[in-house]
Amino acid sequence: MSDYQQARREFYRLRCEATAAALVDKGFEAITAADREDAAQRIMDMIDPDETVGIPGTVTVRELGLMQSLQERGNPVVQHWVTDAEPAEIRELRLKQLTSDVLLTGTNAVTLDGRLVNIDGTGNRVAAMVFGPDRVIVVTGANKIVDDLQEGVDRVKRIAAPINAIRLDTRSPCARTGYCVDCEAGETICGVTVVMDRKPGGTDVTVVLVPEELGY
Ligand code: SF4
Repeated sequence: MSDYQQARREFYRLRCEATAAALVDKGFEAITAADREDAAQRIMDMIDPDETVGIPGTVTVRELGLMQSLQERGNPVVQHWVTDAEPAEIRELRLKQLTSDVLLTGTNAVTLDGRLVNIDGTGNRVAAMVFGPDRVIVVTGANKIVDDLQEGVDRVKRIAAPINAIRLDTRSPCARTGYCVDCEAGETICGVTVVMDRKPGGTDVTVVLVPEELGY
């Protein structure tokens, strides 16, 4: 690894460590992985081979190869990014994620003072992060660590939502402009904003921070 790559990794590691400490203060469990391979292995170790794993819309989890690793190990995986499915089937899969043993997801942003910030179009992902599965594992690259809540919301509107709108080929204006114009119902994929200030009462949440760039 070159000097400039090492400096970036150290910068990200420091931010992950600070964020992990803040998350623990808020009742979450939090760990900083050494790198993406370490993160993937640690997450696999957190999930028993017979547990059902719900995976909502998350690029980070897929980038880590966890979907494939879980399926190869025999874990029942419930995900709704399936082609040629009818809307009713997709709704059913989203509902099943709410009753999985474990929900494995990314986050749109995490603040340095230990809050998770997420914005959804449908709301199934944020609903399952708060209540439903007994355990939630959140994995995030250090590129999603932000200073405060406002920067978290701004990050979604500036980066995550426009890229997701392009990926999903939605009617949202940002899919054509590349920037947010604060669009209306019927076009937006940003209708539901959820801030997890602290660990929810009935759900154990573990956040795995990775000192690399993952997802968007
Ligand atoms: S244009 Fe609409 S969908 Fe796109 S980021 Fe802004 S509010 Fe979200």
